[in-house]
Amino acid sequence: MPDQACKNCRFIVMQGNVCPVCGSNQLTPRWSGYVVILDAEKSQLAKKLSIKVDGTYAMSISD
Ligand SMILES: [Zn+2]
Repeated sequence: MPDQACKNCRFIVMQGNVCPVCGSNQLTPRWSGYVVILDAEKSQLAKKLSIKVDGTYAMSISD
């Protein structure tokens, strides 16, 4: 089964059916590209994508 991405915050959820970042259960396997955020507080990219928690995020969700 492919990893699923959260439709709400785009976090890639590797285990379970609930996003550990925002608590949403709206997950989809239809996403493409990903970005790894290692320091959400300092990353310009994280700011741009409104990401506040370190992790791996889908670049786009096609659902
Ligand atoms: Zn989420």
